[in-house]
Amino acid sequence: MIRIKFFGVRGSLPISGDSYCRYGGKTTCLQITLDNGYSLIVDAGTGIVDLGDQIINKTDPLFIYFTHFHWDHIQGLPFFKPLYIPNQVIHFIANQPVGWNQNIVSQMNGKQFPVCFDQLPSDCLFHQFKSSTLELPPSMNMTAMAANHPGGYTIYKLTVDKQSIAICTDNELLATGPANQSMQDFAQQFNNCDVLIHDCQYLPEEMASKSGWGHSEYRSVCDLAAMANIKQLVLTHHDPCRTDQDIDEIRERINFYIKEKNYSFSITMAYEGLKLHVV
Ligand SMILES: [Zn+2]
Ligand SMILES: [Zn+2]
Repeated sequence: MIRIKFFGVRGSLPISGDSYCRYGGKTTCLQITLDNGYSLIVDAGTGIVDLGDQIINKTDPLFIYFTHFHWDHIQGLPFFKPLYIPNQVIHFIANQPVGWNQNIVSQMNGKQFPVCFDQLPSDCLFHQFKSSTLELPPSMNMTAMAANHPGGYTIYKLTVDKQSIAICTDNELLATGPANQSMQDFAQQFNNCDVLIHDCQYLPEEMASKSGWGHSEYRSVCDLAAMANIKQLVLTHHDPCRTDQDIDEIRERINFYIKEKNYSFSITMAYEGLKLHVV
């Protein structure tokens, strides 16, 4: 079984207020746990602060995989309490060009945040994805693929026994500019995944003014899920301007679209605290 818990589902900017309570206003962070107890974190948006509070009494090594280094995926890290626990081992992993660790270190350089990274008492280690120094459970296979997103983005696909999930929180499926991947490439990569967690930040009518910003609208994401024979599509990275009611209305539009297209996968709008058990 793969257990997934969402700690932050907002894109771009954290948001708070009565109108955002149900889906939540924290930026991207999720936790994945396997039956053997192995656990990993994907991204360090502001959602990672709550996650840190929940695991503060555990001493197990932590594994944080980064999809990329835009603010909404790293801005919670300086407030992640395990960083301040002496000798706590924290592995930082990314599939980006060498030197990517500076994106993590430089946001704690004394100028943007008072505590410098090299003053931390925890034991922080940086790894290139698939580094031989990182041992993963033998039952787990993890692959990486590029998305269409400015500055580069790593999609992670995780397979454990017969279950597979893919995480793709920032991706412009129908990129109008230079694209790393086509719809067909993505459909092939995600083929038969039990769960696809995908970006759905914009509405179809917004794409004309936001094309090239690296995000998708629901119709192309639903088309992809159908092409790839996905069982459950989880839509995330909600735009910070969307209230709970707005997201409910987008959900209704999606219901209408998938009925019209006769698509059969299930849809979940991600919210803070959402737990999925993939069996
Ligand atoms: Zn993002
Ligand atoms: Zn991004």
